[in-house]
Amino acid sequence: MTSMFLKLIVIHAFSAILCTLAALGGSAQLSVASLNPVLTDLARQIGGERVTVIELMRTDENPHAYNPTPRQLQAAGQAQLILASGKGLESYLQDIRDNLTQGQRLLEVGATIPSLIAEHSDCGHDHHHHDAVDPHWWHSIKNIKRAGRIIAAALAELAPQSSDYFHTRRDEYNRKLDQLERWARKELATIPRSERVLTTAHNSFGYFCRDFGFETAPILGLSSETTPEPRQITEIVKTVKLKNIKAVFPEKNVNPKTVETIARETGIQLGGYLLAGSPEKENPTYEAMFRHNVSTITKALAPMKTQAQ
Ligand SMILES: [Zn+2]
Repeated sequence: MTSMFLKLIVIHAFSAILCTLAALGGSAQLSVASLNPVLTDLARQIGGERVTVIELMRTDENPHAYNPTPRQLQAAGQAQLILASGKGLESYLQDIRDNLTQGQRLLEVGATIPSLIAEHSDCGHDHHHHDAVDPHWWHSIKNIKRAGRIIAAALAELAPQSSDYFHTRRDEYNRKLDQLERWARKELATIPRSERVLTTAHNSFGYFCRDFGFETAPILGLSSETTPEPRQITEIVKTVKLKNIKAVFPEKNVNPKTVETIARETGIQLGGYLLAGSPEKENPTYEAMFRHNVSTITKALAPMKTQAQ
C-alpha cells in the first residue's frame, strides 16, 4: 500500500517535471542584444513576442561614435545572440568577441551582404578608410531583406521550434518592404533625372544612390567623425556648380556647420536633415526612417508643382 502510494507520487512528480520542461521549450524567450537600432527593429519585426531584444545602441546615436558602456556590455552578456552591423562599422567589435560567454554568438549581419566599395577620396589624410568598404548597407531595402533572412535563420537555429513563426513574420515584413520600395520609387520618380545627385555631409547614401539611380557627391568620406579640410570644401563647392546641384542635405546628429557653409557659399537650398546613421525617436523604425529620407530628398529636389499635389 505504502509502496504503491510512493510510486504514484514519483510518477506525478516525474510528469510534473516533464510538463515544466515542455512548457519551457515551447515558450522560452530568446534574448537578443542589438548594437544597431536598425537591427533592433528587424529583430523585433521577425522575433515578435518570442524574442526579447536588448537595445544597446539607441535611436539618434551616431554609429561612428557609439561605444557600448560597461553596463551595456554587461546587459549584452545575458543575450544568446548579439547583433552587429559589420563591415567595419563597429570599431569595438573585437572587445565584444573577446568577451563572449559560453554558447553566446556574435552575428555580424552585414558581413555576407555584398559590399559597395566607395571611391577613394583624393584626400591623402584619410588614413582611417583605406579599405573603403561602405558600411552603410541598410540604406538598401534589398539589403534589409537579406538581413532579415540572416536574422530569421539565426533565431531559428537557437529556437528550432519557432522556426515557422520567425519565417512567417519575416515573409510578412518582406511584403511591407516591397510596398516601401514601390512607394519610394514612385516618389523619387518625380525628381528629374538630371537632379538626381545627393550631396550629404558624409558618404553614407551610396547603397541608396545605387538602388535608386542617384549620383553621390558627399562632402566627407565614409565616416562622419572627421572634419573637412578647406580643400574638401573647395572641391564640393566646385562640384555643386559644375553639376548644377540643387540642394545639400545635413544629417541628423552630425554638426551641420559644413553643410550650411556650402549652402551659403553656393547659394543652393539647404535641404531637410537626413537620417544617415540611425533612426530617430520621431521615426524609430527602419520603415519610418526610410520614408523620412525619401520624403526629405523628394521635397528638396522635385519641382514645386509635384510637391503641391
Ligand atoms: Zn556614416
